[in-house]
Amino acid sequence: MSGNALKILYLEDDPSDAELIMSKLYLEEFDIQFTWVMNKEDYLQKLESESFDLILSDFKLPGYSGLSALEAAKKTNSETPFICVSGTIGEDFTVELLKQGASDYVLKDKPEKLPFAVRRAFREIKEQQFRKHAEQELIRAKEKAEESDRLKSSFLATMSHELRTPLNAIIGFSELIEEGVSHEQSIIYAGHINKSGKHLLELVEDIFDISLIETSKLKIYIEKIDLNELLRDVETLVKNEQAKMGKKNIKLLFKNSLQTDKQYIYTDSRRVKQILLNLLKNSLKFTHTGTIEYGYTKVNTPAPMIQFYVKDTGIGIPAEKQNLIFEMFRQVDDSHTRSYDGMGIGLSIARKLTEMLGGKIWVESTEKAGSTFYFTILSQTKS
Ligand code: ADP
Repeated sequence: MSGNALKILYLEDDPSDAELIMSKLYLEEFDIQFTWVMNKEDYLQKLESESFDLILSDFKLPGYSGLSALEAAKKTNSETPFICVSGTIGEDFTVELLKQGASDYVLKDKPEKLPFAVRRAFREIKEQQFRKHAEQELIRAKEKAEESDRLKSSFLATMSHELRTPLNAIIGFSELIEEGVSHEQSIIYAGHINKSGKHLLELVEDIFDISLIETSKLKIYIEKIDLNELLRDVETLVKNEQAKMGKKNIKLLFKNSLQTDKQYIYTDSRRVKQILLNLLKNSLKFTHTGTIEYGYTKVNTPAPMIQFYVKDTGIGIPAEKQNLIFEMFRQVDDSHTRSYDGMGIGLSIARKLTEMLGGKIWVESTEKAGSTFYFTILSQTKS
């Protein structure tokens, strides 16, 4: 029902009858907002322009009838209960009214029946709304389960592909070594095996994190850390990554807006590193020329926080996908022919971690121009 007051549309051409009926309902405990109309035109206009919780209508009106009023109401306000309030109308018309979907009829010389009829009509509509709501909830839950099933199966396919790639490299290069190659070649192949093994380990760690998140077992460990030291570690790691990915042409810039040597805060350094590295690796993956800049500042809303950013001049993300990518198993391109590797779980892990560290993560991006990912964490100075 709309708002708190019950909105009743009342069609009655006789003012004294209207007053009697309305006063009958006002006297009851109903909180009512009446819209009283006296003729067909005003009635139809109100039906078209507003929605009501209940319609009351006289049966005999000049040039109009309760049956026609009911028919019009069913067209525009099909769920709204309709009660006919009339003088004696005869059994045939009463039956016809109820057949056409009227909730009830009340005789004008027995207006004391009206509150009961109104209460019953509202009870019915409430039950109907409750059933409808429950039905919609069921449909939503079913669709959600189906969507999650679909995403999980597509994730399993992606995951097995992602795992197979480094595994194939490990098997292939180790077989070559077994077959007998020069010492120099075996060193090169061992390097490939090592790289693929590390990649495999990263994938397994991500999968492990997801399983911890899914079972609510992911824990964070808060300790006192020097943020600048953490960022120096990240710098080394990201430079290694850049070299491994053969993306030396991209300029990496680290901007520390807080020019102090040490920045002590209490947080989980392993997880902060994980989020930053994830964003930086994504930027490296999705950027082909230009720069990747990252850094942090302090912000004070809603609490003292550290706000990190990773800004790239990469392929960008379409506006309609910018929220989606933080969901599990979601990628901008989820087709089988996609051109970038990845399992689509890094950003959902990052989102969960930032939330656990008291912050949030978001992106601003323009397609073909680049993306800036931001995330915040609480910067407690005492644990
Ligand atoms: P993955 O990179 O393994 O696919 P993520 O959860 O890390 O999974 O990222 C989800 C998707 O978000 C990516 O597949 C990509 O479509 C998009 N994305 C993430 N970072 C960037 C970025 N810096 N530039 C463009 N697209 C990005």
